[in-house]
Formats: sequence, structure tokens, C-alpha cells
Amino acid sequence: MIAEKSETPKPLSFDPGSTVAVLLPLPLAGPYDYLVGPQDHYRVGDIVNVPLGSRRATGVIWGQASGDVDPKKLRSIDGPRETPPLPPALVKLVDWVAAYTLYPQGAVLRMALSVPDALDPPKPTKGYTLASVLPEIRSTKARDKVLAFLKEAPPLPIADIAREAGCGASVVKGLFDMDALIAVNMTATSDWPVPDPDFGGVTLSDDQKRASEILSSLVQQGFKVTLIDGVPGSGKTEVYFEALARALQKNKQILVMLPEIALSAQWLERFEARFGVIPAMWHSELTHAKRRDTWRAVANGDVRVVVGARSALFLPFADLGLIVVDEEHDGSFKQEEGVIYHARDMAVVRARVEDIPLVLVSATPSLETVTNVARGRYEEVSLPARHGGQDLADLSVVDMRKDGPSRGCWLSPLLTEALTKTFNAGDQAMLFLNRRGYAPLTLCRTCGHRLQCPRCTAWLVEHRQHGHLQCHHCGFQTKLPEKCPSCEDTDTMVPCGPGVERLAEEIEILFPDVRTIIAASDMVQGPKQAAELVRLIEEKEIDLVIGTQIVAKGYHFPGLTLVGVVDADLGLTGGEFRAAERTFQLLYQVAGRAGRGDRPGEVILQTYMPDHAVMGALLSGDRDTFNKAESDAREQASMPPFGRLVALIVSGCDERDVDATAANLARIAPRPDGIRVLGPAPAPMALLRGKHRRRLLLSAPRDVQVQGIVKDWVRRASIQKKVRVQIDVDPVSFF
Ligand code: ADP
Ligand code: ZN
Repeated sequence: MIAEKSETPKPLSFDPGSTVAVLLPLPLAGPYDYLVGPQDHYRVGDIVNVPLGSRRATGVIWGQASGDVDPKKLRSIDGPRETPPLPPALVKLVDWVAAYTLYPQGAVLRMALSVPDALDPPKPTKGYTLASVLPEIRSTKARDKVLAFLKEAPPLPIADIAREAGCGASVVKGLFDMDALIAVNMTATSDWPVPDPDFGGVTLSDDQKRASEILSSLVQQGFKVTLIDGVPGSGKTEVYFEALARALQKNKQILVMLPEIALSAQWLERFEARFGVIPAMWHSELTHAKRRDTWRAVANGDVRVVVGARSALFLPFADLGLIVVDEEHDGSFKQEEGVIYHARDMAVVRARVEDIPLVLVSATPSLETVTNVARGRYEEVSLPARHGGQDLADLSVVDMRKDGPSRGCWLSPLLTEALTKTFNAGDQAMLFLNRRGYAPLTLCRTCGHRLQCPRCTAWLVEHRQHGHLQCHHCGFQTKLPEKCPSCEDTDTMVPCGPGVERLAEEIEILFPDVRTIIAASDMVQGPKQAAELVRLIEEKEIDLVIGTQIVAKGYHFPGLTLVGVVDADLGLTGGEFRAAERTFQLLYQVAGRAGRGDRPGEVILQTYMPDHAVMGALLSGDRDTFNKAESDAREQASMPPFGRLVALIVSGCDERDVDATAANLARIAPRPDGIRVLGPAPAPMALLRGKHRRRLLLSAPRDVQVQGIVKDWVRRASIQKKVRVQIDVDPVSFF
């Protein structure tokens, strides 16, 4: 968790002639001092124009001037922007995230001002209406329709009039040219329908009612973190919707964070069924115009509910009343590029600076959250049973050492038999394999040469449907070579291991009549395709889904009775300290897709490690014992959440410079009691996009404030030119 409080109180206002710190959304060391102009009064959060070198920039009034520069040499702020100020809580959040992650405040501010032109006043749109005196014009059917329509309607844009009157836009334009219509400026209408807390809803079970009452009572009670812990299908979503309803009744804004929001068609449908409208969305697939309108509408309070990916955390909510982080254990809440931060953890910070409740939701809560519950810092609300009382799916393990498939195949006889039964019964099945493409590796049969990305420490993955080999790290693409690049033998390159496409090939041979779909991120791109995938499965136009992790989460497919995990061991190799926890979470979620309708489900795990603790926990369904064992082991090793980690990643094009910097960092590493520094070591991705990478890892006891130590460490280092040192506080991946 995050350290307690570090906010210094900021003075409220700045008068003409005084000096003030202005933070620019740029990766500068800190705010710059400016003078307040003779007419101006500012408060913290006000958005202003300032001179910067020879250009103009946007900045935010941040607080007391540093006083480092002689006031006589300071330049004046040009003036305020016509836009609402950044809310005080967002100002605090930016400071907090910067201090915690050790990224410059300006780089964090840039995430909060991610749509610069949203700060410009919206351009008035032109509406068209009837002229008060109609000129003589020749009557046509289309013209008459427009005139009749406009008699009753308010001024509207041309396209809307044409659509409503059922004619072409040229007819409307023509009428305007003939002075039958006049143009008026319209203020932008709000396209943000308000969710209705009483629109729909289900009758909650007793357990659900109890949970929803606890959650609803949190609204307007100030900061508190509550975990909803419940098996898949227990109605967690329905329950937290009740807390949303309560916050809506109180006229508060709400933020719901979901991993993979762009693919969450089902969640949106359920929201609509409950509240009557679709919420505002915030994710990387939005058009720029939508992004700008959404940003503004969040700032002025028109948008009531935002469902978003991690970056939604930095939206300028005018009056936030509740945050929900669904699938809180999900690794994709960690941003790994730019400012490296964990959106779930920073959501805790935002809730605290806003003094509002935060609800974390998961069937497999992270060990961090479980530990916070155990320490009494978070409240827990549990939903022990599936709604409707079905049992969780029956789970069994196939020992691939004894009962594996024949060479060159990936499906064991047991799994094949279960698939046969499922299809014969007219039910649906899912095969889970977390590997995109056809084969993860292609090698030469003659010399053993492996096809590797020229820019990364990674094998090229064959994508047969797209007809190329691809690097999953940098996007490099190439055709499958006819000759081995090393020994030049022809026709010797062979695929090694399965990806989802190769699995589909095996299915094609085993079950030629089964309707199969591959669901992987390169096949399902964006909300439309995701919605289509869901429709195909829901309407039973598909018998078998072969999917990667994009189908593991959250989906509810009542017809799906069998889930086969093709390689349950995949996440356990590599030895990262969270590997077991993460594999358990993923497989538990995958298993949770089976048997959600009225027929019982079955889950089959293929593994070479049937005795592994993860398989044991999945088989027994005893998550708490597994968590306890994990937790004890972490505590022994002083690993998170019992110790702190900070990773340094040194990267650059020149390997010698990278090594020199890494060696220097190791030499001057901090050595107070309890602190250890490991490395430098080549990163698992020792080459990424053509950059060489080395890693160092600092570990410290939990009660140590590592930020100051790391900051000082990096400041003292001699960093070679063109070498970058990235700081990753609380690392999640170690690539
Ligand atoms: P979870 O989020 O825990 O996986 P969901 O909220 O998705 O569970 O619920 C699973 C399914 O059961 C959904 O289709 C949901 O609409 C349905 N459901 C849950 N609770 C109820 C209820 N009280 N009445 C009717 N349907 C419910
Ligand atoms: Zn690459």
C-alpha cells in the first residue's frame, strides 16, 4: 500500500503582482515560477497560458512559487484559459502519483491534460431554422417535408434536419441558399443521457442484498476501501450496480475501471439493462472528438458514469462520489510505459484525496488486497455462492506425462472425449491457450536455427492466417523464409509448439463439423468485433471458442459447459515471484466461464505438473489455503506485499554505455540496513526494439520510504548520454 499522507497545504489564491508556481504538462523537473498579471487573481488548479521560451504553453497554477528565480526576472502569466480549473483532488493526485512513482509532476499532469484542445471552449455549432419571412420558392415534396418539419422542431444542424425530414442534405442547403432558412449559433447540446438508478434491476438474493446494503451505505461516508470477494457468477456486478444507483441518487459522478474496456460489450449491455443508458467510455480506441467531448463533459459534470481503462483515473471529475475497480487483481491495471504506475493502487489514492469510497471487485483478489483485508485496512464483503445455487464447475486434471496426446497433437484423449460429449449434447466448449498465432517458435530441422526478432530477445511467432511471422514485442513482421537463414537448406523450417491457430487446425481434423472461432487480440479488435464475438457465442452460432486471455475474463455464456485448458503450466515457467498467484487467478477465471447456465460445467486442465500447488488449489477449490501458503512464502522472503521492490531498467542503443551506467548504479547503490540491491543483470528482454536493457532490483522492508532512497541513488549516478534509466516502483512484470 501507499504511504499515508504527504500533502502539504497549498495557499488558496494568488493576487496581482505576486509570484506563483505554474506546472506545465511536460517532463520538466518541477513547476516554473511566474508573475501574476496586474488584473489577475488565481487559485490552485486554474488553467492558464504562459510564455515558455519563444512560444506559448498551457500550464496549471500549482502553488507557492519556489523563489529560486529573482522575481524581477520572472515572466508574467498571459492570462486564464476559458475552462473550469482542475479539481483540487486531481491536483493532489498528480502530486501524489509523481512523488510515489518518481516521475516528474509535469509528466503526470500530462496524463490529466491528455486532450489539450478540450481546454478550448467548444465551437458553437450552427443550427438552421425557418426564416421569419419565407421567400417565394417553388414547392417540391422534399422541400415541403423540410419546411413542415422545421415548423415543429428547434434549430438543428443540416445533417439532423435531412435525416429527420427524410431527404438529402442538399435540399436543406438549397433552402438556406434561397433564404428560406436562417442559421443560428447553438450551444452544444448535451449528448450525455443520465443513467436512471431506478430503471431496471434484478431481485437480489439474501446474500446479495446484504452485500449491496453494505456497499450502498458507503456512499457519502468518506474514504473507505471495500473488497467484494465472490466466486464467478455470484452477482458481484449486480451488487455493485446497487452502489452505483445510490451514488446516482445522490447526484454524484462515478468511475468504474475495467481491464479491456474496449472489449467489454457484455458489461455495457448489463449497465444499459440496469440504468437505461450506455455510460460514457474512456479507452484508447475513442476517436479524438469523442475523447475531447468526454473530457469536457466529465469536467463540467454532464457525464455521470465513466467506465474506463486505467487512464480514466486522471479525468477531471467535477464531483466524484464512488470508484469501482472491477477485476482488481488484473495485471493490465499496471501501466508499463511512460509514467509507470498501478491504476488500482492510484485509485486508492484518488479515493482518499476525494474522500470517497472505493470498491475493489474480484473472484481472485490480489495478495496485496487480501493482505490489506487481513490487516484491517480494507473491509471485505463476500458472496460465497453462485447466483441460482449452481455449483462451480467440476474440475479435473490430465497428467500429460502419462495421459498426453500423440506426437504433434495438443489435445489429450480425455479432453477430446469430453469435447465429443459436449458437442453431441449440443453444448458449447471453450479451449483456452494463452498464445496468439500458429506457433510460438519456428526452427530449422537441419541446423536447429531459431527464427528470432532482429530487434528483440524474442522468437518470431508465426501467424498463418495473416501469412507472416511477427514479433509480439515490437511488431516486426516478415514472411516465412523458404531457406533457413543459417544453413540455407530449403523447406526445413518447422513450427514448434501450439498457438490458437494451430489448435484450430487440430480441431478441424478431429471435429470437421464443429463451428469454431478463434478469439485472440489480433483477431478481435475493438468494441464492434468484440460485440460480434459475444453475439455469435450467445446465439449459439458457434460451438467452440479457442481463446487467449481475452476470453478468460468476466464473460457470461450460459451455453458454455466445458472449458479445456490446453497448457495449464504456461504461466508457471519463468520464475517471477507472482507466477503462481497469477496463474491461479487466470485459470480460476477461465474455469469460471464453464457452467454458468442451468447445466453443470466441467473444466479440464492439461498439465505436466499435476502436483503443483496451483493445480492443487484449483482442484480443491481452496483458494484461502493457497493464498495463505503464498503469503507465508512471500513474508519469509520479504517480498511484496511484505517488502517493497523498486526496479531500475537501464536501456539504450549502445550496449557498452548501457553496461557502464548499470555498473555505475550498482557501484553506488544505497546500502542502509535492510536494503538490498540485486543486479545489474541482462533483462529477460535483453534487447527490445533495438535497445539493450539491464535491470537492477532494490528490495526494502515495508516500513521504509523507498522513494527518497531511489531518487537520491539515481541522482548520484553517472548516466551515459542517450542511456535511459526507468524507475518502476512496485514492479509487476520483470521483462
Ligand atoms: P459476477 O460478477 O460475480 O461474476 P454477475 O453479476 O456477472 O456475477 O452475475 C452472473 C449472472 O447472474 C449474470 O447474468 C447476472 O445477471 C445474473 N444474476 C446475478 N444475480 C442475479 C439475481 N439476483 N437475479 C437474477 N439474475 C442474477
Ligand atoms: Zn521485436
